[in-house]
Formats: sequence, C-alpha cells, structure tokens
Amino acid sequence: MADGGQQDLARLEAEALKGYRNLTHVCPHWDKTGREALVNPTTIVIHGTGSGSSGWALANMLDPTHPAKPSAHFLITEAAELIQLVPLDNMAWHAGRSAWRGRDELNQFSFGIEVQNPCSLSGPEYSPQQMDRLIRLLRWLMRRDSISSENIVGHSCVAPGRKQDPGPKFPWRFLEREGVARSWQTFSEDVYNGEVRECLIRLGFPDSVRQQATQQEQRVISTQDDLLRAFVLRHCPTLSHFAAGWQEHASKYLSQRELGHA
Ligand SMILES: [Zn+2]
Repeated sequence: MADGGQQDLARLEAEALKGYRNLTHVCPHWDKTGREALVNPTTIVIHGTGSGSSGWALANMLDPTHPAKPSAHFLITEAAELIQLVPLDNMAWHAGRSAWRGRDELNQFSFGIEVQNPCSLSGPEYSPQQMDRLIRLLRWLMRRDSISSENIVGHSCVAPGRKQDPGPKFPWRFLEREGVARSWQTFSEDVYNGEVRECLIRLGFPDSVRQQATQQEQRVISTQDDLLRAFVLRHCPTLSHFAAGWQEHASKYLSQRELGHA
C-alpha cells in the first residue's frame, strides 16, 4: 500500500475506534493459543443482540461458564459505545452453523459485529448514533482487509431459517446509500435468470448449511421459504413477511426487480 493509502487507513482506524473500550483481555470466548487465527477475512456479519439492553449481551460474552461461549469482535451498545471483545486476528464465535457464497462456517472468514436492538418488528429503531458508529467501523474494516460491499451481511443472510437478526428494523438501505452494503438491484441481469431459488443462491444465500455438530459431512438444505425470508429481511424489510401470502409477494418482487429502478 502506498504511503497515502496507509495514512488513509490510519485515519479510518482512528475514526472507527475513537473512545472505544478494549475488553479483549477479559473476554474468555476466543482461542488464546493461536489455533483459531482469522486469516484473510472476506466478510462481515452484522448481528442484533435480540435483547432489551446491551448489558445482557455483554454479560454473556464475558461469562466463562456460558455453554454457548458467544463472542463477537465488536459490540455497539444502545448508547453507541464501541466495545472490542476479540482481537481482529482471531476468530470470534458469532455465526454458528452458516454459509455465504458457497463457503461454510462464517466464523473462519468473517468479523462479527453485535449491535444492540431487540430485533422485533414492534421494537425500537436502531439509532442514528449506532449507525454512525457502525459505518465508521465498516469503512475501516472494509479498507483494512479489502472486503467488498456484497460481503457485508446479516446473521439472517448466512443462517436462513435459524437466525432472524439483525431483524426487520435494521436500516440496510441507509448502509447501501453510504456504500457499505450492496443493493440487490445493482447486480447484473444474469443473476436474475431462472427460478427464484437459483436467483437467491446467486445473490449469495446458502443452498445448504453444513452441520458442525456431527463428525460426518451432513448438510441441511435451505427451504425456499427460509431463503425468501432471508432475502426479505435483508433486501425488503418493509415487505411484512408476517402477512399472508408474503412468499408470493417476495417472489414477485424478486422477478420484477426492474420496477425497483423507477
Ligand atoms: Zn446473530
């Protein structure tokens, strides 16, 4: 990287980490032996905590007796404070059974960012201050590891049918306008040839997800409803997927995407 580029990266890092709290030495849920190094991360997974306050999520990530050993590289609280839990060169345990663009187990190639929000349709919005924090963090990490905007995803994108976060209130359109996420309408026409299921898989959603719990290679095939729901949560959250007939609406929306250009 040229000197100018390094200065730019240093500026982005300073803007992202301004006033942050580093709790990496306190978080027990990452491997300190170096066996779980994070090499060449290509993807960033955004989570919603799904709780009423970030204190609950933070307590879980700091609890050495928690059976699921949850962690994430960063947590953004309701007050838009940034807390780092896992060093960037180590895997965090945030995505679980997951896949994106044909690769399984996101923990091995992604950063995880938790943002405080209950993740329900009737719950509060993500705040502008939280989004400001998140965007500064994304800009830095994307530049640092040359991560492209189509690989900024939600947990619901990579674990269809199993996870719903960051949920229907997450402002993906805002991230797209800021250039830190990619609108489905900007992909080439080729992506949209063929059946709905094929389109969704070309957009990156997983056809199937490997099960980590078993020794054998065992895969759970994503149902078309699960894939459509993941698409709706990511790309058209205003389309209520709780209403009767949402699958039909989502399929129509996908096949007539040119209407979205108007
Ligand atoms: Zn999650």
